[in-house]
Amino acid sequence: GKTGSDGKYTVTLIEGDGIGPEISQSVKDIYSAANVPIKWEPVDVTPRLKDGKTVIPDEAIQSVRKNYVALKGPLATPIGKGHVSLNLTLRRTFNLFANVRPCKSIAGYKTPYDNVNLVLVRENTEGEYSGIEHVVVDGVVQSIKLITREASERVLRFAFQYAEGIGKPKVRVVHKATIMKMSDGLFLSTARDISKEFPNVQFDTELLDNACLKITTDPAPYSDKVLVMPNLYGDILSDMCAGLIGGLGLTPSGNIGDECSIFEAVHGSAPDIAGRGLANPTALLLSSIMMLQHMGLNHYADKIQNATFATLAEGKMLTGDLGGRAKTHEYADAIIRKLKV
Ligand code: NAD
Repeated sequence: GKTGSDGKYTVTLIEGDGIGPEISQSVKDIYSAANVPIKWEPVDVTPRLKDGKTVIPDEAIQSVRKNYVALKGPLATPIGKGHVSLNLTLRRTFNLFANVRPCKSIAGYKTPYDNVNLVLVRENTEGEYSGIEHVVVDGVVQSIKLITREASERVLRFAFQYAEGIGKPKVRVVHKATIMKMSDGLFLSTARDISKEFPNVQFDTELLDNACLKITTDPAPYSDKVLVMPNLYGDILSDMCAGLIGGLGLTPSGNIGDECSIFEAVHGSAPDIAGRGLANPTALLLSSIMMLQHMGLNHYADKIQNATFATLAEGKMLTGDLGGRAKTHEYADAIIRKLKV
């Protein structure tokens, strides 16, 4: 976001569908109470028909291009043929090559482990998700896992920079190069090269299956690490880690591109509870905190994060998904009260 004449950063806000508007309202309320120097620019991303194809409105694209940063609520994927998921469209439009998912235990929400604190970086553009599949002959199909040095370098360099930025001393590549000798092998050898650019960050590697076993046995040894991996492994491992801290409702994420970045909750539009003031805004709020850190507004990020964690730890004002009875706005108000102490 650029600063305007009022000294504020403009950030694109995609409120999203279902519970999106309700959880966005909580974020807006908390931000104005915390005097965050951000001006929201709400945009509508309801797909339109253009030359027979569904596309995101140009105004929305232009807004993100201009502001560089967006906060996004969940988008319901239209059901039916011919619709490309809007999330995928946004990812492609802005070349959001890295998906960052921090998973940190939340005091006050009991899960089998209370010491999870790891960060996953997933390659977001190629690998098993290249969409290159074909029938060889009837009953035989091929799916191509595409790995390029260019995309690998980009996501790996980002992972090292991110580790340095958040003060984690280690980057670990999770891979299966024992079997995928060429594809994961290229990812791995690229990682070795990139690691030389970062003498202050330690680098090691682990096989995917071993990582799953070890993380679910004891996540503590992963607290000093940023894990980085090809697309499919990241997709699966990040949800597995979200499960360790209490599910998708508490998990933030960032989609990082060359120029623009979009921060979003991992959960969907929750149509079953939409419009009833029952939604938990924590995941979107924590995503916005990642956004503040990305923008260098760490003072505000810390302030809001401390108030949020304190409210959750106290446990008096929790939404239904966390076993409480508070409405969305009551939970947000409790966070706002904590901002002031
Ligand atoms: P969902 O995440 O919307 O809901 C799953 C369950 O979790 C529901 O019971 C819901 O009530 C609950 N839940 C989710 N977020 C919550 C919150 N913040 N507070 C309280 N409870 C919450 O998943 P779904 O039902 O599979 O998908 C619904 C729609 O969302 C679909 O159209 C899907 O395509 C879309 N979706 C979008 C995104 C995205 O925009 N990133 C991600 C996933 C799903």
